[in-house]
Amino acid sequence: MEAKNNWMKARIAPAEIEKYLRADGTDFVDDAEILRLLAPAGEPEAAQVREIVAKAQAVQALSQAELATLMRVRDPELWAEMRAAAGAIKRKVYDNRIVTFAPLYLSSKCVNDCAYCGLRRSNPAVERRVLTMDEVRAETEALAGQLGHKRLIVVYGEHPESDVDYIAESIRTVYSVKVQTRKGIGQIRRVNVNAAPLRVDELKILHGCGLGTFQVFQETYDRRAYARLHPAGTIKSDFRWRLTAMHRAQEAGIDDNGIGALYGLSDWRFELLGQQAHALEMERFCGIGPHTLSFPRLEPAVNTPFLENPEWRVSDDDFERIVTLARLAVPYAGLIVTARESPEMRRRLLPLGVTQMDAASNVGVGAYADGQEKQKGERQQFILGDPRGLDECIREWAAAGCITSFCTAGYRCGRTGKCIMDLLRSGAEGKFCKLNAILTFKEWLDDFATPETQAVGEALLQKELDEVRRTQPKIWPAFSANVARIVAGERDLYF
Ligand code: SAM
Ligand code: SF4
Repeated sequence: MEAKNNWMKARIAPAEIEKYLRADGTDFVDDAEILRLLAPAGEPEAAQVREIVAKAQAVQALSQAELATLMRVRDPELWAEMRAAAGAIKRKVYDNRIVTFAPLYLSSKCVNDCAYCGLRRSNPAVERRVLTMDEVRAETEALAGQLGHKRLIVVYGEHPESDVDYIAESIRTVYSVKVQTRKGIGQIRRVNVNAAPLRVDELKILHGCGLGTFQVFQETYDRRAYARLHPAGTIKSDFRWRLTAMHRAQEAGIDDNGIGALYGLSDWRFELLGQQAHALEMERFCGIGPHTLSFPRLEPAVNTPFLENPEWRVSDDDFERIVTLARLAVPYAGLIVTARESPEMRRRLLPLGVTQMDAASNVGVGAYADGQEKQKGERQQFILGDPRGLDECIREWAAAGCITSFCTAGYRCGRTGKCIMDLLRSGAEGKFCKLNAILTFKEWLDDFATPETQAVGEALLQKELDEVRRTQPKIWPAFSANVARIVAGERDLYF
C-alpha cells in the first residue's frame, strides 16, 4: 500500500506543467473567452459562414471565433452546405480511405475514480486484470492472425502494475508477434497508445519503442465539471497535468498526438471550443496540430450510476453537428469515430469526414484470445454500440465507396509529425496513401475476406486500379507490378 501511495505521489511533475503555462500563470483554455463566444444567439450571415467554410476548404484550421460562428448556424440549407464541405475536405485530404484498427485493453486496474468509467477504483463489479506478456502475445495473435488487423490502440488503466515499463514491454511484445495467415504473415505494424499522461522521460521510453500516436483525452475542458467528476486526491484530478500531456509528448519526440473530449460530461459546445483551443495551442507550441481528434461519447458501464441520466448527454443530431464542425475546424486532422457508436450512427457519420474507425472491437481485457463474442460488462470499461466483425464493416464501407486501408508505410518511411501534416495540407499525402491503401486492401481481401466481401471489395478495387492507370500513368507500371506480386503471394509491399 505504501509503495502504491509513493508511486501515486511521484506521478505528477509540477515543473512539467508550469513550463507550458503563459507568463501570467494561465493555461490555453480561456473559460471566459469561450463563454463570451458562446453568448450570442442569432443566426450568422450566410456570407460570413461561407467565407469561414472556404477557409476550411483551403485546409486551414479555424479560429475559436470562427468555429463559434459556425455553431450558431440553424438554417438547414447552410447546414447542408457545411456537411457537403466537410465530406469534400475529407476527400481532398484523405481521399476515399478509411483506416481501421482495433482497441486492445491490457489492464483494468486503476487508481483513479472517474465517475463515468466502469474501471474506476471504487467499482467492485469489475474484474481486475493486468495481462502477462504471454497473454499480450495471445491477444495480438488473435488480432493479427485471425482478423488481419495491422494497427492497434493499446489501452491501460493508470496503476503501478501498468506503469511505463509495462507499457513499453507490451508495445515491444505486440510488435514481436508474427503469425501465419492464409497466404502470408500477420503482424501489427503500428501500435498507438491511449494511456494516462506521462512525464517527458517516460514518453521518451515509449518513443524509443516505436510508439505510433500517443492519445490522451482531456475528458472535459470545463474545469468545474472536471473537478466534480475526478475526485480530489486522485492523480486524474489534476486538470493541467492532463492538459499539458501533448506538450510533453512533443518534447519527448512523439509528433503524432491524438486529443479528444468525452462528449456528454458538459455542454458539447464548450467542449468543442476547448478542443479547438487545444488544437491551436499544439500548432502554436510546435507547429504541428493534432494528428487525430477523437469523439468518445458516453456509453453505459456496469454499476455506474452517473451514466444512467447524465445532464449533458449528447443527442444523435448534436453528435452529427459535432463531427461536421470538427471536420471543418481542423481540416487536416484524422477524425476517429469508434465502435462506441451504433452501426447506424457510424453510417450517418461516415460521409461527414471520418477517417478512422475500429472494427471487430472488444474492450474486455483478454477477450480476443478467449474468443469472447458477447460483451461482458464485468470485464470491460463500457459497453460498445457496434459489435460487428471486421469483414462485415469492410464490406459495408466498400459498398459505400470507401477503401479500407491497413497501410502504415508513411510512418515506417518517417512521414510523421510536421512532414505528414504538410503533405496532408497540400493533398500530396493522399496520393501515396491511396496507392498503399489499394495494396494493403488487396492483401487483406486475399488473406481474410469472406467470398461475399471479396466480391464487393474486388469491384471497388477494380475501379481504383482503373483510376490510378488513368490519373497516374507514370506510376502505373511499377504500381501494377506490385499488385501482381501481391496476387502471387508477396506481402507488405509499399511506396
Ligand atoms: N486510463 C487512462 C486515462 O483515463 O487516461 C486511459 C484511457 S481510458 C481506459 C480510455 C478513455 O475511455 C478515457 O479517456 C475516456 O475518455 C473513455 N471512457 C471512459 N469511460 C467511458 C464511458 N463510460 N463511455 C465512453 N467512453 C469512456
Ligand atoms: Fe481509470 Fe481511465 Fe477509467 Fe479514469 S477513465 S477510472 S483513469 S481507466
